[in-house]
Amino acid sequence: MTTAAQPGTAGRAQATPQAAIRNAMTVDVEDYFQVEAFARTIPRATWDSFPRRVEANTDRILEQLAGAGVCATFFTLGWVAERHPALVRRIVAGGHELASHGHGHARVATLTAEQFRQDVIRAKHLLEDIGGVKLTGYRAPTFSIGANTPWAYPILAETGHRYSSSIYPVRHDLYGAPNAPRFAHAVGDGVLWEVPMTTLRLRGPWGGQNLPISGGGYFRLLPYAVFRRGLAAFHAAEGRGGVFYTHPWEIDPGQPRIAGAGQLSRFRHYLNLGRTAPRLDRLLRDFAWGRMDEVFPELAASPGPTGALSAAA
Ligand SMILES: [Zn+2]
Repeated sequence: MTTAAQPGTAGRAQATPQAAIRNAMTVDVEDYFQVEAFARTIPRATWDSFPRRVEANTDRILEQLAGAGVCATFFTLGWVAERHPALVRRIVAGGHELASHGHGHARVATLTAEQFRQDVIRAKHLLEDIGGVKLTGYRAPTFSIGANTPWAYPILAETGHRYSSSIYPVRHDLYGAPNAPRFAHAVGDGVLWEVPMTTLRLRGPWGGQNLPISGGGYFRLLPYAVFRRGLAAFHAAEGRGGVFYTHPWEIDPGQPRIAGAGQLSRFRHYLNLGRTAPRLDRLLRDFAWGRMDEVFPELAASPGPTGALSAAA
């Protein structure tokens, strides 16, 4: 009787062998006009002039998750929370983990340390006040924490965050740290956990290359069966769960088209938008999922100077 409403059990019941390994399902809550691909076309001062679709789209994802019995982590922009407080409360009421995507979606390296501090404090206070919960997780816009922002992790720790999920160990023109550690590790002198996005380490002639299998644009680009095999191969090779991410705008083929954006940006942003929701439904049922803080229980504790990275070395 007490286990009937346990999140995630629906997914595990129809389990394939790999489904015994639980992955973190994450959603970056932002709108279609706030993405990095359109940053040069859409000045942030004009954001309020765009019709917002983030609340309706996030509600659709909440319905999909509820239908699959999955709880997820929602890295939410302060800017969105300010305008859609009821949405933030529905995320919390659904049993999901509320986490921060910062306030203004500026790439971390474009901010000074002090501007970054103000951005993450503003988002955290807003989200905690509206959601009525403490939050510990943060994801940098466009995975933009890196070697040139050494001050970012200590600031996240100072401001009460306990983990970050802001690194993608792949080669990409907009983001990526191909040589970064691929698994949860201590950062900032052991003040914080970093949980990188999931990659499949290729072997043979491609040895040493990391294939991105965390979701986002690749989830829309690759046939679903290929993506599913990639995640299953990751489970078989590593014996642990990965991190998947999506955005509310990725399930919204009806979003207004942005004029003036470059061809590559438009290709990436508009590719297969109509396929994401049904694929997400399959993904939710083909594997086992949970919140970041459930899938990676180590995030509940401070890593300390002898975190996973030094322990594994
Ligand atoms: Zn984002």
